[in-house]
Amino acid sequence: MADYDYDLFTIGAGSGGVRASRVSAAHGAKVAIAEEFRVGGTCVIRGCVPKKMLVYGAHFAEDLEDCQKFGWEIGDAKFDWIKLRDNVLADVDRLEGAYTDTLESHEVDIFKERARITGDHEITLESGKTVTAKHILIATGAHPRMPECQGADLAISSNDAFHLDELPKKIIIAGGGYIANEFAGIFNEFGTKVTIVNRGDQILRGYDESVRDRLLQISMTKGIQFRFNTVFEYIKECPDGGYFVKLSDCEEEHVDLVMFAVGRVPNTKDLGLDSVGVELGDNGEVKVDEFSKTNVDYIYAVGDVTDRVQLTPIAIREGQAFADSVFGDREPYAVDHGCIPSAVFSHPPIASVGMTEGEAKNTLGGVKVYQSDFRPMKNVLAGRNERSLFKMVCDAADDRIVGIHMIAPEAPEMMQAAAIAVKAGLTKADFDATTAIHPTMAEELVLMR
Ligand code: NDP
Repeated sequence: MADYDYDLFTIGAGSGGVRASRVSAAHGAKVAIAEEFRVGGTCVIRGCVPKKMLVYGAHFAEDLEDCQKFGWEIGDAKFDWIKLRDNVLADVDRLEGAYTDTLESHEVDIFKERARITGDHEITLESGKTVTAKHILIATGAHPRMPECQGADLAISSNDAFHLDELPKKIIIAGGGYIANEFAGIFNEFGTKVTIVNRGDQILRGYDESVRDRLLQISMTKGIQFRFNTVFEYIKECPDGGYFVKLSDCEEEHVDLVMFAVGRVPNTKDLGLDSVGVELGDNGEVKVDEFSKTNVDYIYAVGDVTDRVQLTPIAIREGQAFADSVFGDREPYAVDHGCIPSAVFSHPPIASVGMTEGEAKNTLGGVKVYQSDFRPMKNVLAGRNERSLFKMVCDAADDRIVGIHMIAPEAPEMMQAAAIAVKAGLTKADFDATTAIHPTMAEELVLMR
């Protein structure tokens, strides 16, 4: 051990890297971490956390409309983007401080600079300092993919969306996934005219068709436009401000902003991984086994850089499992990547766990599907013509629930509890045997026919 400066050197202080470093230190390892940008990583600095705050901020637009039917009279309601933006960014600063404190309180050395592997067990920092480590963990995350079309560099990514000096009046968002739908909802609630442009003919590939269709229908009713099977030909700067955009099947049009949300690419460039022979996959991701170990015995990788499941809670679990397995007092264990619940924070949100109806039919053969298609009580009184949908997919052979899919206000909050039941292998009969909490939306989970 004395041969190395550190037991563990982590590159990247995002969700996975921070968890792995602090738990390894708690297990008694001497740990250092390098971060070239800000401690906290994508989720905390320019992803899930500030995005969710914007979702809350945006949703007040509907609440202010709906509250009138509940007897509230609101005078001249005004929205101040700069105020929301700066409050969100201030909270991000606070969280960065909290993450830094956690590392420091575990005596993890923090290098706020870029690090590269420059030899066996050797890392060189931007400043030129070289250190050695018995184990190296790559936790560098991913960055937004920017497609190749003329003028692509004029478009923003979700990274920039948190820092805008003003809201666009008209925006085109490329992509039909998580980020496109979440930001389409946010901008639309703030009054921006939004068009989603997708290369394929569906949004949110991988989610159950019924909830995807419902989101599409609700989004269109709210005024979001969709262009499918469409690609960008060019983006040009307009001398009077904004951009001219030419899409494959349309006339050139003028918009204030173009945002790309077409997936994320693992950050493996210029890390020196080739110098020690770490194997990469087709998307540039670090290839790892179930214990997050690369083909090089002392180098591991967790989180988005491995392109397994690009979700924060998975990166955290992988970081925890790495630390416990390598430095803990127990047998190595792998993270279970099955039955992962997820959510899209659109307006309204989608939440899902397990197999879609289509997947279940292909995998299991016989399936039973139960559905509840209802208008939430709050929407009824508010006069909001927006229906929710719950779907439960069961294995016909034994009644076991293999998937639950929802689109409803607060669906992600309800799904977290429902996912425990699906993960535990409960059956439809177990749900039926549970008394409803009335009146709630969640009671539909135990009342589905
Ligand atoms: P997604 O993978 O969700 O969606 C990518 C979208 O872009 C798809 O519609 C895809 O189309 C399209 N696309 C992919 N490549 C190209 C290309 N070269 N040119 C044009 N279109 C393309 O990616 P996001 O960027 O929205 O999000 C990145 C990741 O971040 C997500 O996968 C998710 O793991 C994570 N995330 C999670 C959130 C959450 O948990 N709520 C929120 C935000 C992000 P097609 O369907 O045809 O492939």
